[in-house]
Amino acid sequence: MVRILLKFSEELVGQPITAEIILEHKVPINIITAHVDSKGGEVLAEVPDEALETVVKAFRQRGATVTLPKLIEIDKEKCFDCGACVSLCPVEAITVAEDCSVNFDKEKCVGSTCSACVEACPAGAIKSVKQNAELANNAH
Ligand code: SF4
Ligand code: SF4
Repeated sequence: MVRILLKFSEELVGQPITAEIILEHKVPINIITAHVDSKGGEVLAEVPDEALETVVKAFRQRGATVTLPKLIEIDKEKCFDCGACVSLCPVEAITVAEDCSVNFDKEKCVGSTCSACVEACPAGAIKSVKQNAELANNAH
């Protein structure tokens, strides 16, 4: 699966664009987070690798902005389980285990749309990394 960040303008936000694309192209689009109001919207979604090009094209044809957010990578060698990143995570993707080690659930992480932990880590243990380069190129 590939993560895509969709931005909808005020004019587009009330239209059922995502539902139309799901039906038209018969692709599953998994919405991870959505911040939408009458002024516009930002939606983080996941699509199958093989459908990326089609889905990106379809959203762009309808006027939405599509980018591929970066994901995070943890260097467990550098992490010293200080816990500074835990309370900053807005989606509870970082948790403390019973043995006090800090764990990351990358499935929950919203990546470069957040990056709060990347900037906060005193050990530089968390990096923002591009998603699969080949897929990213297909999406441009
Ligand atoms: S980038 Fe944001 S969402 Fe992802 S693990 Fe870090 S704090 Fe949580
Ligand atoms: S802030 Fe950095 S060193 Fe501290 S627990 Fe998080 S990843 Fe590990």
